[in-house]
This record gives sequence, C-alpha cells and structure tokens, in this order.
Amino acid sequence: MRVTEPFIIGTTLALLTAGTGWALWRLVTRLRRTEAERQRATAELNRRLSELFSLQELSYLLSESLDSGRIAEQVVRYAIRFCDARGALIALAGATAGETWRIAAAEGVVSQLSGHPVPQDDAGLIARSSRREQLQVEHQPGSGVALVGGASVDTAAAIPLRAHGIVVGTLVAVEPTAGTFTPDGMRLLSTVATHAAVAIANARFFELVRRGKEQWETTFDALREGIAVLDESGCLVRANRSLATLLGGPLPRLIGAPLVEALFGATQRLSDLLAAAGRGEHSPALVARSPTLGRTLRVTAAPILSTAQQRHTVVLVEDVTDQQALERQLIQSEKLAAMGQLVSGVAHELNNPLTSISGLTEFLLEQRELGTHDRGHLRVIHEQAERAGRIVRNLLTFARTGPADRVPVNLNDVAQRTLLLVNRDLQVRNIVVERHLDPALPPVIGDRHELQQVLLNLLTNASQAVERNPPERPRTVAITTWADESVHLRVSDSGPGVPDAVAEHVFTPFFTTKEPGHGTGLGLSICYSIVESHGGRMAIERPPSGAAFRLDLPRAPTDALPPSAAEPAAPAAPAVIPSHRAILLVDTDPAVRITVEALFGREGHAVTVARSTAHAFELARERAFDLVIVDARAAAADGARLFVEELIDHLPEVRSRILVASGDVRPATDEALRRLGVAYVRKPFNLRDLRSEAARVWAAGAAS
Ligand code: ADP
Repeated sequence: MRVTEPFIIGTTLALLTAGTGWALWRLVTRLRRTEAERQRATAELNRRLSELFSLQELSYLLSESLDSGRIAEQVVRYAIRFCDARGALIALAGATAGETWRIAAAEGVVSQLSGHPVPQDDAGLIARSSRREQLQVEHQPGSGVALVGGASVDTAAAIPLRAHGIVVGTLVAVEPTAGTFTPDGMRLLSTVATHAAVAIANARFFELVRRGKEQWETTFDALREGIAVLDESGCLVRANRSLATLLGGPLPRLIGAPLVEALFGATQRLSDLLAAAGRGEHSPALVARSPTLGRTLRVTAAPILSTAQQRHTVVLVEDVTDQQALERQLIQSEKLAAMGQLVSGVAHELNNPLTSISGLTEFLLEQRELGTHDRGHLRVIHEQAERAGRIVRNLLTFARTGPADRVPVNLNDVAQRTLLLVNRDLQVRNIVVERHLDPALPPVIGDRHELQQVLLNLLTNASQAVERNPPERPRTVAITTWADESVHLRVSDSGPGVPDAVAEHVFTPFFTTKEPGHGTGLGLSICYSIVESHGGRMAIERPPSGAAFRLDLPRAPTDALPPSAAEPAAPAAPAVIPSHRAILLVDTDPAVRITVEALFGREGHAVTVARSTAHAFELARERAFDLVIVDARAAAADGARLFVEELIDHLPEVRSRILVASGDVRPATDEALRRLGVAYVRKPFNLRDLRSEAARVWAAGAAS
C-alpha cells in the first residue's frame, strides 16, 4: 500500500486526536482526584480545627475553676466528646497520703459509679491504671473489662493524671460508639489528661493553701492574747480579734494605726522594745500599766522576715491585770498562812500559862480569908486572864486549817452551855440575860465548839456594849432562837448600837473600834467564817435601839441523828460535886499540875500526877481512877498511836472517864479523839470549865 500524504496527515491527525483525548482523560482523572483530596484535607483541617477549638475551650474552662470537683465534671464531658465514647469517669486521689481514692465525676453508661471509692489494691482497671505511666486500652467484649468493684464494660481506655511527678487521679473513657477507640481519640484523651492533671493539681494546692490560711486565721483569732504584725513604722498591718477587743475598736479600723499610741498613749519603753525587735535583738517582756486602757499589759516583740525590703515585727500583748491581782492574793494568802502558823504556835504556848493564871486566881478568889483589897486585885488578874484566853481561842480558830465536826447540834443547847460559862461574869457586871429559846427548835449540822465560840464572841461584844450604857439605861442581853425553813439565833443588846459607818466593816478581820488592848477585831470575822463554813449566813440587824446579830443556819436533814444521840444535852452544873474522887493527871507542864492539884485537892479529891505516858500506864493499871485528865499533847505523844487510844485498848473501862484538855490540836489528832468518843475541854480552861466537864464525865459514868 502506497502511503499517501493525505493518509499520513489523516493518520497523524487521528493519532494526535487519540493522544490528546488520553491526556485529557488523564488530566480530568487527576483533576478529579485532587479535588477529593482537597475536600478530604479540608474536612480533616476542619476536624482538627474543631478539636483545637474544643481543647482551647476546655483549657479555658479548666483555668477558670479551682474546684477539683467541677474540673472533673468538665473533663469527663470532653473525654466523652473527644473519644466518641458512651461514658467516662475520673477517679481522684485523696487529699492526704493514705486517704482513699474516690470517683469524683462519672457520666454516660458509668454514671452510677460517681462517688464510688477505689481501694488501691482493687484489681479493676482504674486502680491498676493509677500505678502505670501510660495510656492503657482494654477490649474484652466477652468477659468484660473490670473497672472497680463489680462494675465492668466491653472496652475501656484509662490514663493516669500525672502532674509535678505525682499521680492525682485516673481518667477513663468507655464503650466507643465505633466499637474501638481510634488513634485520634486516644491522642485527644492523652491531651485532655495532661490538661486535667495540671488543673486538678493546682486546685489541690489552692485548697491546701486555703485550708492552711483558714486554720492559721482561726488560731490567730482564737488566742486570748492580742497579736499584731507591725510594719517598719510601727503601724498595724494585721491584728487578731483579741487585740481588737482589748483596744475596743473594730478590727478594720485598727489597721494602719500606730500600736504604741493605741496601747499606752505614748511610752518610750514600748517604742524601745519595738526598735530592739526591729534590729533583731531579744529584749525581756515589757510589763506596764496602760493609762488609756486601765489594764496592766505584758508586751513581747520579735522580728519576722517578710521580704528583703520589708522588716515586720510581731507583737504579743497579754492582759495580765487579773493574773497580777491573783499573784498578789497568793502572796498575801501565803503570808497569812505563815502568820497563821506563827500565831497558832504562840497561842498554843500561851495556853498553859493562861490556864494556870486563870485557874489559880479563881482558886484564890474562893478563899474566904482574902482581904477585900487583894480580892479586887485578884479579880482584875482573873478577868484579864479570861480575856487573854478568849483572844487565844479566837487566834487558834483563825489559824485553824483542819476539818471541824459535823454532827447534829441543838442551838438552844449551845446557848445554855455558853451562858453557863459566862453567867457569873455577867451577873457580877449587872447584866441581865433574857432567853427566848424555841423549845421545838430543830437541830443544825455543825461543830458544837465552833458554834459555842460564835455565841461567846457575840455575848462578849454585847456585854461590853451594854457596860457603856448610862446608869438609867438597862443592861440587857437577849438570846432568841426560832425556826422556819432555817434555824435562827439572834443575840441582841440594849447597848449604843452599831453606827452605819462601822456596820459595813464589822465582819472584816482585824477591824475594831475598841481601844488598843481591848479588841483584836477578830471576833465577828471569825463568827462570820464559822457560820459560813456551816452553810449558813450571819448578818447585822438594825433594831430601833441597841445592836443585834443574827445567824441563819440550815436545818439538819431529817435522817440525821437526833442531837441527843450524838451529843448529850448540857447538864446543869451539879450543885455539889461528889468529893473524894481519884484523879489521874497526865500533863508535863508543872504549872498546870499545880493548878489542877490545887483546884481538885481543895475539894477533897486525890490528884495523882503522871510524869510521863509510861508512868500513866503504870498508875492506871495499878488502881482505878474516877477521872483521867490528859493534856492533848500527851494524848498524841506516842507517834502514830495516840496515848489515849493505847490506854483505852488496854483498859476499856477508862474510856468514859477520860477528859482531854486541848488547845489547838492537829486535825488528825482531833479526828482520832472524836472517833474515840472521849470528852474534851478546851484550853485555856478555867475552874468552871474544868469543874463542869468533870461533873459531866462523872454524871455520864453514874448514868451508865
Ligand atoms: P472586837 O470586839 O475585838 O473589836 P469584833 O470583830 O468582835 O472585834 O467587833 C468589831 C467591831 O464591831 C467592834 O470593834 C465594835 O465596833 C463593833 N461591834 C461588835 N458588836 C457590837 C455590839 N454589840 N454593839 C456595838 N458595836 C459592836
């Protein structure tokens, strides 16, 4: 075949046309592919952009909150979104080491786990994940992936939340809607976990700081002492409530005020103290009275380093006004206690000489052959000895610390006994005593001797008062008893009465209006404290004329023993004391021996004197005595066992015949004597006391 030109041209054209079509087709195909890729890339870009925005949104939300609970809720929500999961949860570690982990937030298919504890030894994924470094994905559609306790899911991804090297929790996403988690989903979960860990750790630190601050502020305000932080110019930067209360102003108003002026008005000493503290020197506390506040303050200061530029000072302000008053009181009461001991020692030593002076003058006064002149002198000696005796008794009561008796006592009986002691004296001084004693008076609980002393003091004051009456005015002293819900006793007199200015001080110790040497000022204060120690009250009354003092004492409870069983009623002093009694005297003081021998010997009694307790034993074993008078010191002479106790052990029949002569005995001895039930007479005794006590012992012996 011959190839013609048109053929060549035609063929060439045909080939060209076919080649162009192919190229075109290829071009079109390529163009089409590029468009799909572009669209995919655009979609990818959009997705990434949306993720980025979502992450930005989350990070904004997390940075907004400092509450770990709220942070956990947000994170869970975003985890579900990013992983396209059906549920998510966050478990957080406890705030302190050892505190149990707990699920802080849970949503979707695991929402029921919210608040669930996660023990660290739990076999579930949550606990295991907290011990791992990395993301962990588990997919077990058949058996299920255990999360915590009995809860399980088919698929779960867990990642520990780690910040500043500490695991603060675990984030878990479960059940992806696509069946499995995509790598993108996992990447996003890791990013969310990183953000969440930092936000939660910060929230924790913030909470820790907030709590610490709160605790510190509560402590600061709870302190009783005032605390202030001062700047370099001495102005208040901070202060606690106690300081505000002390300075009497609201806390905010104090800030910026200069402390020295606020506390003391102005004092160089406090300024010096603050300056020394500012230089870092340690100065002793300043104790000074604040004229502006009217209180005594103790101020200490110490420097605190705030920043390199600022030097602050912390100041402690204590109100020591009450403490100082207490300290003064303590020193005073220690002084009083020491004085009490001294007084009691001296008074004790005076007992025996006074007993002899009083007893022997009385003895001499009873001698018929005495001249009037001598009798007058002797009466003065006797009166003065009696007075001294009363003072000694009051001093001993004042200094006494031991417990007193608490038995049922009838105040009528106390009145009768006391009158028995002073009747003759009152008669001699032309003083009439009126008795208005309620025969149905109920008993009180108390110490007969103490109550007797109250009455003796009141009668002494009353008799001294009426003695000053002009001749036309009667000299009358009245004792009245009555009862309502309490038991009352009143001693009134027809004397000049107590002026108002005196009345308010009469119960104060050592207050007296009497001439020096005539009053100690102890009588009424002792009465007051005795009545008070009996649970009662003592009061001065304001009758239209004269003076009156009243005691109100509580009635003895109805189940208390009747006074007759605890305390025999006071027998009237026997008119004639039977003579020729055998008396054993155990007293080491020769003056007392002479007195007792003289008093009883003259009445025909035989007095045998024991030189020692051993000698007394010997004598008591040899023959029977009607009365054994034992000095309290001798009674207590044998250490732990009282001599009287030993004597009763060996010769029980002697018990009812013992009469102990006591001044102020130690509480233990007092207690033991009471337990033994022996009679006793208070020293310094006089002839009447001794006679009436001896008569009582003999009367009791005759009755038994
Ligand atoms: P003293 O009798 O040693 O002075 P008191 O404590 O017994 O001490 O009495 C204190 C003061 O009370 C007496 O100094 C006296 O001024 C006043 N006073 C007490 N009793 C009476 C009374 N019956 N009449 C007037 N004044 C009395």
